[in-house]
Amino acid sequence: MRTTRVWRRVLGVEHAVIESVKLETDARGQELLVARVRVKAGSARRCSRCGRRCPGYDTSPAPRRWRGLDLGSTQVYLEATTSRVSCREHGVVVAAVPWARPGARFTTAFEDTAAWLVCHATLAVVAMLLRVAWRSVADIITRVVADRAGKIDRLAGLRRIGIDEISYRKGQRYLLCVVDHDTGRLVWAGKNRTQETLGRFFDDLGADRAAQLTHVSADGAGWIHDVVAERAPQAVLCLDAFHVVAWATEALDQVRRDMVNRLRASGYQDEATALKGSRWALLKNPPNLTGEQRTTLAGIAKANGGLYRAYLLKEQLRAIFQAVEPADARALLGGWIAWARRCRLEPFVKLAKTIKRYQGLILNAVEHGLSNARSEATNTHLRLLTRRAYGYHSPEALIAMADLTRGGLCPPLPGRS
Ligand SMILES: [Zn+2]
Repeated sequence: MRTTRVWRRVLGVEHAVIESVKLETDARGQELLVARVRVKAGSARRCSRCGRRCPGYDTSPAPRRWRGLDLGSTQVYLEATTSRVSCREHGVVVAAVPWARPGARFTTAFEDTAAWLVCHATLAVVAMLLRVAWRSVADIITRVVADRAGKIDRLAGLRRIGIDEISYRKGQRYLLCVVDHDTGRLVWAGKNRTQETLGRFFDDLGADRAAQLTHVSADGAGWIHDVVAERAPQAVLCLDAFHVVAWATEALDQVRRDMVNRLRASGYQDEATALKGSRWALLKNPPNLTGEQRTTLAGIAKANGGLYRAYLLKEQLRAIFQAVEPADARALLGGWIAWARRCRLEPFVKLAKTIKRYQGLILNAVEHGLSNARSEATNTHLRLLTRRAYGYHSPEALIAMADLTRGGLCPPLPGRS
């Protein structure tokens, strides 16, 4: 085997000619391997947007470098002279190079590896292992997702979807996310929670495919219901279980906070502090409680009837979504509303009114089995994503991250399929 062929294989540049390979020391004293390459004649002078062969326009005087995958512990760079072509359709554009995506400073193999790693490890690990800044990882993800999204139709075959508003930047900004209930995948995301955003989703979906939707779940937002009623009138509208449970959890927390404040105001400092520490015991699902939290809860049951009543109200509402028979769910929900109305806990009296208003949509969710663990896991993941402190510099970067990790756009590792 000739040495240049070995280099081509090792560096993963199949449609290129390797002119030279040398070691170089950078400003920080690190050794770099720099391979000088050029595009093979057959792949030269192609538009980077459509891939069509075009007349050459000009050639850049200075060569350009792309970071490739490390060889052992040595950083690798490809170096080549770039040129522009004049495309019939796209005008004067950079000519495509077979080893990198247009506009990238990294090779495709490096970018796919980074994107794959992001799906399987924490960002701190990825940035450390690949020796890149988080900002570069975000740019890489955006490019990989745009590239792969163009090749996959994620809106094909949708039947049951969930529409959800997810806040980021401390609740200042919103993303509108559409999840497929049957696969649990994120299939669409857009900036802002407005009718226009949701309208764009339905535009992308098209009238034929919108007519195939059988169920649409959402939170209580009336504007979502209006758009769905207009664009997919045949779909059964449901209220997502986890929103309903979240409302009850919020009401319970309000009851607890009110009690802490009342105890403080009456001079019971120790009691107030103890109650403040009970937050997680109250909010967690019973099977996940620690021994200590169970004891806390038992103490509340004995000493604080009002708070314990609020706890039971939350748990009872959660149990309705586990009902197998729609008739059972209907009876349980009716009973719950009656109980909450006269429970003398202001947040739950208020919640009873809301639940009453959405009764039909809640029962739809139970009846059609839309209280789905997979789509809920995706929603939980998306919420966690927005809370990470990486400082997404744009909603596009956040959407790309969500698409990559929950939208089925994670690329395979280079060289393996
Ligand atoms: Zn073109």
